[in-house]
Amino acid sequence: MFSHSPFINCPNCNETYFGISTINDNKYYRRCKLCDYPVNSQKSCSFNLPPLTKKVIYLDQFVVSKFLFLLNKEMPQYQRLKEDKHYKFWFELYSKIDELVKMQLIICPESTSHSHESAMSDYYYLIKKIYERLSYNSSFKNFHDTKKHQTYKVATLWNRNENFQRYEFCSKDIFHNYINKWHDKFYFTFPRKYIADSKNEYKSTRDKESSILKNSFDRWKKEKNKTFYDWFNAEASSYGTTTISMYYNHLLNLEKISNGKVKPTFENISGPLVVDIFDAARLSFESDGLAKSESAIKSMHFFQSDAVKYIPFVRISSMLLASLARRANAGQKKYPTEGMFQDIHTLEIVTPYCDAIFIDNECNDLLNEKPLKTELNYDTKIFSLKNKDEFIEYLDIIKSSASQEHLNALEEVYGKDGCKPNFNIFK
Ligand SMILES: [Zn+2]
Repeated sequence: MFSHSPFINCPNCNETYFGISTINDNKYYRRCKLCDYPVNSQKSCSFNLPPLTKKVIYLDQFVVSKFLFLLNKEMPQYQRLKEDKHYKFWFELYSKIDELVKMQLIICPESTSHSHESAMSDYYYLIKKIYERLSYNSSFKNFHDTKKHQTYKVATLWNRNENFQRYEFCSKDIFHNYINKWHDKFYFTFPRKYIADSKNEYKSTRDKESSILKNSFDRWKKEKNKTFYDWFNAEASSYGTTTISMYYNHLLNLEKISNGKVKPTFENISGPLVVDIFDAARLSFESDGLAKSESAIKSMHFFQSDAVKYIPFVRISSMLLASLARRANAGQKKYPTEGMFQDIHTLEIVTPYCDAIFIDNECNDLLNEKPLKTELNYDTKIFSLKNKDEFIEYLDIIKSSASQEHLNALEEVYGKDGCKPNFNIFK
């Protein structure tokens, strides 16, 4: 007879044991811990909950690490954080975020970049615990899947001669399931095994990308008479041409496998990830009636066309890179941070789908430069340590927006202090 507090009087036995059994989407169910009512009574004790419109907030990995150090006093980083000039902010931020998540007003979903970055850290399991608290099992789809969705949609519009320059972002692109649901008091934890190999793999990818970016930075320094849009066009077009050439290399490889010239392995047969992106366009044409024999040619034309610049993730990353190019060209000596490519991989996906993002100062600056500020106008609020007080204000406004009906429902299902921030998760 599982039910938990808050308990009210049971309509059957009249004892104060009528607790919450489950909370599901926009309903919750009660059951008596003493007499098991309404089981065997043909009645269902379900109650409606008010509809939700949760704000989606992306917190960069460094924020999650700060929360870990703040909450786990055993870690040496805790002392360092206490002496940090932003300590008060981190404390306040965690309190507010944890409270708003429990109040069903925000979600901070876990993402591909979080799992990659935490796999590289020495505290994988501890960081995982923080995510689970903040996300309550909500997560973004694998970024690669969002890229496929976006490509498919833009390719469809392009093929139908419709306006591919305006992309309709919808939560289906990025979320596994419906996000505006009331969550249970408890959440599940998935015992994901830590794989040491992926740590090395992610690290080597990061190092490789970091050196590619350094090389580009050196090249941009020397380029003459180029504008922001020259670099933007170059980056976006090169995404298209690289996709085509990798797809054709993959086809050649498959031929070699079938001729016995190359050993078939899982990697060889599935090919690089970008093959899926090419296929997303191909499949969109086929679902619009194009024959299989023509769809690959059409995809090639698509990836050579201007439409590629309007696939949101290509547009965002190309703009960010063009911004870095402009900085290099204007004489910036300092290379972008080691994790810049990782940040771009994240921002190119999450930015349009979030109500707010909290990222590092460097990325905040880039997104606030012209023309990015106007071109990438998704109504997403951008915060970093630079405007941290505004972020706190933003969170306060969200809290004060909760209606009385909503507050009553919170007390009804989670109890009087059910949404208070918890600082004891490592005790
Ligand atoms: Zn009862």
